[in-house]
Amino acid sequence: MLEIHNLHKSYPIGESSLHVLKGIDLKVDQGEMVAIMGSSGSGKSTLLNIIGMLDEADSGEYILDGLPIKNLTEKKAAVYRNKFLGFIFQSFNLINYKNALENVALPLYYQGMKRKERNELAMFHLEKVGLANWAHHLPKELSGGQNQRVAIARALAANPKLLLADEPTGALDSKTSHEIMEFIQQLNDEGKTILMVTHEEDIANMCKRIVRLRDGVIVEDKFVEQVRLKQQYV
Ligand code: ADP
Ligand code: MG
Repeated sequence: MLEIHNLHKSYPIGESSLHVLKGIDLKVDQGEMVAIMGSSGSGKSTLLNIIGMLDEADSGEYILDGLPIKNLTEKKAAVYRNKFLGFIFQSFNLINYKNALENVALPLYYQGMKRKERNELAMFHLEKVGLANWAHHLPKELSGGQNQRVAIARALAANPKLLLADEPTGALDSKTSHEIMEFIQQLNDEGKTILMVTHEEDIANMCKRIVRLRDGVIVEDKFVEQVRLKQQYV
């Protein structure tokens, strides 16, 4: 699914620079569910953003789905992003004046899908996250957990191969966090590859593999027994 070799990233700070990623090697196969852990400022989001083609590394290799990601034009990067990747963020990043259905349908609009078709597909995904009855509500009329479900439906709308999540439960209480994680586990059961950033151990333990970042390098990379809160029937 993706392969990273000797990846480096620095941010300029005045005259000097901050070396955030100092030679990352990472390989993720299709069907994996990986947690990227590390303390605040350890470079988790930087790594995820590079993987998501929202940012670019200074050096090293990144291959996504067999395709070397390097020197892509903004237009080409957008095409690959839309085709391969779905994003979920801590703060949901929904558009506040659009209702749930419109938010989910938006990436399909950018893909050039016709209105009727994209609304049908958006509704299908809202049903999947259990929010069919909330389709015409605005984000401010929904709870945090419901908004994150809308965001997940939006991320899934274009059927991405890889789902990237940056602290997806960071703004939710622990019960709602676990519900969202169970849903993400279900998506993984259905074959979706998941890569998520978290600094919470209980959330990481619900994944199948934990990668730990410290001082810009991976200090641990291990497969774990995935914690399931209740029996799933898939
Ligand atoms: P994490 O997600 O693990 O908390 P980040 O990847 O967001 O860490 O940030 C790693 C370090 O890089 C932090 O010290 C942060 O302040 C710095 N940083 C992140 N983005 C930028 C940027 N665009 N410009 C300058 N410094 C940045
Ligand atoms: Mg972060």
